[in-house]
Amino acid sequence: MPTVHPTLEALRSHDYASGGISRELALEATRLSGIDLWDLYALANRVRHEQVGDEVHLCGIINAKSGHCPEDCKFCAQSRHYDTGIQTYPLLDPIEMEIAAERAAREGAGRFGIVTATKALTRGAFLDTVLESVRRIKAEGKVQPDASLGIIYEPEIAVMLKEAGLGEFNHNLETSRRYFGEICTTHSYDERLNTLKYLKAAGIMVCSGGIFGMGESWEDRVDLALELRGVGVDTVPMNFLHRIDGTPLEKMEPMEPLEVLHCIALFRLLLPQMEIKVAGGREVNLRSLQPLMFSSGANSTMVGNYLTTRGWNAAKDHEMIADLGLRVACESPASGAEIA
Ligand code: SF4
Repeated sequence: MPTVHPTLEALRSHDYASGGISRELALEATRLSGIDLWDLYALANRVRHEQVGDEVHLCGIINAKSGHCPEDCKFCAQSRHYDTGIQTYPLLDPIEMEIAAERAAREGAGRFGIVTATKALTRGAFLDTVLESVRRIKAEGKVQPDASLGIIYEPEIAVMLKEAGLGEFNHNLETSRRYFGEICTTHSYDERLNTLKYLKAAGIMVCSGGIFGMGESWEDRVDLALELRGVGVDTVPMNFLHRIDGTPLEKMEPMEPLEVLHCIALFRLLLPQMEIKVAGGREVNLRSLQPLMFSSGANSTMVGNYLTTRGWNAAKDHEMIADLGLRVACESPASGAEIA
């Protein structure tokens, strides 16, 4: 009989219906390697199947205001601190956002995120335009309007978003509290955490995750997951660094595909009931192993393009999901729609 690694035995005997694994066990799991990693992926796949089922959630986004962000996040093409040569433009109008939402629906997305390169969401014409866009997309009824609009300092603004019909708000913690200062110096971890708390208090679903491959340790990755568990977020986007020329992280070593799968599996075992969304950087970091993201614990992804980089063809995503014996979540009003 083949011997089973003791860490895998401990992972298999955990009761995932009661919650995720401990920090100690997660750190042990980060040390698995070789053939044992494949058993870890398989376990995460089973936990995904048992805890959240075989449906894959799809969302699309639009970069509704590009570039000139005053913050200095070292991975970001949109920071005004770095010369990245991206196309910049001010906030789109509600009609442009509505058209983009319809395109996302045609690509099979059930959710559509309005994303802006901004430090914070404050009162004024910017907020009014966002609220109007959310109302229009909601009224159209083809996709659920979501958003990612920076830090929220006033709880009332979260309430206004909820009343306009916003479903989910994305605000990533990005990494552990310990490593955050290496990535961003213009705002604090607590400003991000408080934003998540205001969103939850307003009854908005919270989407928060991070970026991997920025030089953080495995301990930072585990602690990010535990921070998200503590907040009780709904969706956890996992981005894998897509190195952008001109940013301080442009020379970072890319992650190996098996390490990406290791991260995904670990997050599933730490956060068994959450929606684990593999988002930016999956194409360049997973390469030919993209389908295995769903066999390692993910149950969600993005379709279409990202903020400043191009994504895969949406039709290929649908084919990949069907080939794996999975199905697109029925929350997607356009899950049977024509895929261009
Ligand atoms: S706050 Fe957002 S848009 Fe601005 S630099 Fe950071 S990641 Fe980029």
